[in-house]
Amino acid sequence: MTKTHCPYCSLQCGMDLAREGRALEVRPWTEFPVNQGALCRKGWTSTGLRGHRERLTTPLVRDRATGELRAAGWDEALDLVAGQLRELRASYGADAVGVFGGGGLTNEKAYSLGKLARVALGTSQVDYNGRWCMSSAASAANRALGIDRGLPFPLTDVEQTDVLVLVGSNLAETMPPAARHLDALRARGGHVVVIDPRRTATAERADTFLQPVPGTDLALALGLLHLLDAAGAVDEEYVAARTVGWAEVRAAVASWWPERVERVSGVETAQLRRLAELLADAEKVTILTARGAEQHAQGTDTVLAWIDVALALGMPGRPHAGYGCLTGQGNGQGGREHGQKADQLPGYRMIDDPAAREHVAGVWGVDPSSLPGPGRSAYELLDALGTDDGPRALLVFGSNIVVSAPNATHVTSRLADLDLLVVADLVMSETAALADVVLPVTQWAEETGTMTNLEGRVILRQQAASPPSGVRSDLDVIAGLAARLGHDFAADPEAVFAELGRASAGGRADYSAISYDRIREEHGVFWGTERMFGSSFAHPDGRARFVAVEHRGPAEPVDPTYPLHLTTGRVLAQYQSGAQTRRIADLPDDGPFVELHPMLADRIGAYDGRPVVVTTRRGELKAPARVVDTIRPDTVFVPFHWVGANKLTNDALDPSSRMPEFKVCACAVTA
Ligand code: SF4
Repeated sequence: MTKTHCPYCSLQCGMDLAREGRALEVRPWTEFPVNQGALCRKGWTSTGLRGHRERLTTPLVRDRATGELRAAGWDEALDLVAGQLRELRASYGADAVGVFGGGGLTNEKAYSLGKLARVALGTSQVDYNGRWCMSSAASAANRALGIDRGLPFPLTDVEQTDVLVLVGSNLAETMPPAARHLDALRARGGHVVVIDPRRTATAERADTFLQPVPGTDLALALGLLHLLDAAGAVDEEYVAARTVGWAEVRAAVASWWPERVERVSGVETAQLRRLAELLADAEKVTILTARGAEQHAQGTDTVLAWIDVALALGMPGRPHAGYGCLTGQGNGQGGREHGQKADQLPGYRMIDDPAAREHVAGVWGVDPSSLPGPGRSAYELLDALGTDDGPRALLVFGSNIVVSAPNATHVTSRLADLDLLVVADLVMSETAALADVVLPVTQWAEETGTMTNLEGRVILRQQAASPPSGVRSDLDVIAGLAARLGHDFAADPEAVFAELGRASAGGRADYSAISYDRIREEHGVFWGTERMFGSSFAHPDGRARFVAVEHRGPAEPVDPTYPLHLTTGRVLAQYQSGAQTRRIADLPDDGPFVELHPMLADRIGAYDGRPVVVTTRRGELKAPARVVDTIRPDTVFVPFHWVGANKLTNDALDPSSRMPEFKVCACAVTA
């Protein structure tokens, strides 16, 4: 029996893997506190890719004569990649090579990938798909609270709060074992509020449900601040002792009376007033945001406004209360702490900070001046591929860009303009299918490494089985490339983790006191303190920042040609781009669909199960209609696990986090 964690989402549910002959069987690990033995169907079926007929087991190289991928040996493939990278760097400079990582990679891989970019390749052009996950929440938390850790408290704390407000989270479908904490809260008389344009499975569990127009969560928060102030419900003592900036916020929300909020968001005045009264009367309020609130061109400001609400109520730092973000990807948190992000070095250090550069360069044994500066954010990096000053080669680890990038048709055309596309993956994903070189890598049960879950708890995935013959771990691949470029990188995960600890020491996310042994003994170890902000926030003066923000609305408002709002999201049985889960036989794969309200269906002559066409300024998708009265009549929803949804989405970026506006754009639907 091997204690490990699920390969998918940020809950990182604990599980036991038992050997049954040559197969692995998932068993509950009841002592792990986050999921207490519960798993969703994705977790229970997660061994389905072991021995799958579509697993890649040999490197593939595109034959220049035929244009087809052919089998190659590891030395041939890595020599070819390293040789072309050297040539491109010699001809066009170090930034001619780009590196694209993933929020599902272990901490060790994220760290090694960032080091590969900065040390072995010398390129600034490195970022990862976590930029599209919770970067807006990260940006807001850094600004308001001085530090970015998804939840600054254990998830189980929400059971003890009085009012839990979920803004743009469908956790009952995206991380079902977490819903037990909502049920426990309600069983002891707590109140759950869900804010979502769709009445989701999570909303069905709520005591209060608000259904705003997509992209207007910010206006709701401003309206709540207005009402709380008018009612004298602001915790003046807390605000004076622990924060700065309330006067500016108070002035900014003065004009956000409920009727204005209703005009913008569609949420009735009476509903907003009731919610404000509920929050004002509660002793403990917890506000959690997720992608629904964050994946917007005003995502950072939206989160800042909800943190303002939490601060006005005096909640952050109080036991069983505060603000947090529900991270999405398995290592969304750790993925951005160890240097695969364009502007960061290990330890959540900023790459333009001279002291940070000196420390990390010391661990890496290089001159600080040799480290590149900040690069482009994920979408901007992809948008620049093949252009005059953009990368001409891209190394992709743990990401299926063709499905998951916004404005995906445009991004796919950028990939086609590259001189060299290298993809490391376990199966032939839609992105791997376009590559010049495909490198077959291990999956989670075949390797050891750490992840950092949504609470900042560092956990250990332990190897339970050998990988198929011909497959290598990403760490081996990175070390193999580094060696060919003249650098000696560790490939053993525990050795990489120890090095990561040294590189992060003294940084904002400091892992130096964490070891594999400690993680095993303690069922995971929090970086920093388990509960943050009890006596001070992470700004130098110890005070949180109120930040005055203004509602701007979606970057692409509806108009007569595109009169509806399109929003995207997940379904229970699939995970992210679906590269793994779509191949698991026990998980239903119904393909994309278009969810729309009966009133809209009547108007356009659509019928449940029959095809409709969704069109935006960037593309169109034909898929069966799902006619449901749980969605707003002015909104349609498409899940993003298949090619299609992101051909429609808008690549407008948040000015601070560089998060694309996945969650709302203007569309038209025809039957
Ligand atoms: Fe895995 Fe997330 Fe499901 Fe838990 S909730 S079993 S981590 S996919």
